[in-house]
Amino acid sequence: MSGKDQNKENKKFSKNLISWQKDFGRHNLPWQKQINPYKVWISEIMLQQTQVKTVLPFFEKFMQKYPDIKALSKSRIEDIFELWTGLGYYRRAENIYKSSQIIKNKHNLIFPSTFEEIIDLPGIGRSTAGAILSLAFNKRYAILDGNVKRVLERYFAIKAEKNIDKELWKFSENLLPKNKNDIYSQAIMDLGAIICKKKSPLCEKCPVSLDCKSFKFDLTNVIPIKRKKIIKKEKDLNYFLVVKNKNLILMQKNPNKGIWANLWCPLNFKTKDDCKKYLKKINLKPNIYHYASIKHNLTHMKLNINIYRINVENYPISEEFYWKNIYDKIATAKPFVEIIKKLTEELENENSLLFKAKKGT
Ligand code: SF4
Repeated sequence: MSGKDQNKENKKFSKNLISWQKDFGRHNLPWQKQINPYKVWISEIMLQQTQVKTVLPFFEKFMQKYPDIKALSKSRIEDIFELWTGLGYYRRAENIYKSSQIIKNKHNLIFPSTFEEIIDLPGIGRSTAGAILSLAFNKRYAILDGNVKRVLERYFAIKAEKNIDKELWKFSENLLPKNKNDIYSQAIMDLGAIICKKKSPLCEKCPVSLDCKSFKFDLTNVIPIKRKKIIKKEKDLNYFLVVKNKNLILMQKNPNKGIWANLWCPLNFKTKDDCKKYLKKINLKPNIYHYASIKHNLTHMKLNINIYRINVENYPISEEFYWKNIYDKIATAKPFVEIIKKLTEELENENSLLFKAKKGT
C-alpha cells in the first residue's frame, strides 16, 4: 500500500473510532466526570495492572479524601498507603505521594502539561504520560497499554512471538488524528476493553472491522500470539499474628525496600522454629498454632504464606513495631487484609463470650 493510501486508511480508522466512541464508548467512569489532569493521573496510576471494576471504589474513596492536588500534597505517605490497602502494587501509592511533593515544590501545585515534565514524575511511563496528555489536555500523544496493543496487533494482523513494542508505538502514533485526541484515546481504550476483548472479540459490533486484517483473514483467535509465560518462582513465607489482651495485634513496619515496602505486616520469621527460638530468648513460651494458609501472586513471584497465631500477655517491642487495636485502620499488604478482618471478628466474638461469662449470663 502506498504511503498516501496508508494515510487515508489511518485517518479512516481514527474517524470511525471517534464517532463510535460518542455513541457506544464509556462515558460514566468517575474520572470522566468534570475531567481534569489530577483525576486522570490518579485513575491512570490506579489502572496500571488493575481492572476498572477493582479501581472504582478505591478511586471514589481517594477523591473524597483528596479532591485535588493541594489536599493530596498535605497528606502523609501512611495515609495514602491506608487508602491503597487492598489495591496492591503499593509502589504506586508511594509514587503518587512523591509526585504530589514534586508538583507542590516544582510546579506550584499545578499539574504539569508537557510530556517532559509529566514523564519526570515517579511511576509515569510513556503510555501513562500519553494518556494524561491526550485525555486531560487534548494533546496529540499516543498510548500503548495492554488493550491498545491487542487492538493494533489484531487490526494489522501482526503475528509476533517477541516483544514488538517499538513497532507498535509507531503504529499507535501513525493512527493519531489531528484533532479530538481526547475522544480518540478514550475510544481506542474502550474498543480494547469492551469490543476487541482478549477472548471472543465482538467483531460484528466493531467500528473498524471492515479494514481489520485479523477479522478479514479469520485470525482473531490466534492474534495476539500467545507468548510463552514466564514461570514464576515460588517462595514460602511465615507470618505470625501476635495477639495481646484479645484486642491488640502486633504489626511490624517493613523497610523501604523489597516487597510491601513501608507497609505494616504481622511478624515475619523465616521458619516457625526461628520464631520459637526468638520467643524463648525473650522468655516467652506461648503456643504457636497454624491459623491460615494463603497463596498470593506478585508480578514476578508466587507466594505461599503460612500464618500462625500466638497469644501473649506481653511482648517487648521497639520503634518499628506497633500494637494495632482491632479497630485501628492501618496500611497493610493485600494478603493480610482479609486475615486481619477474620481475626478481628474472632476476637470480637471471644471478647463478647468472655463478657457474658463474667456476667454469668
Ligand atoms: S474487527 Fe474484531 S479483531 Fe478487528 S479490531 Fe475489531 S474487534 Fe478487534
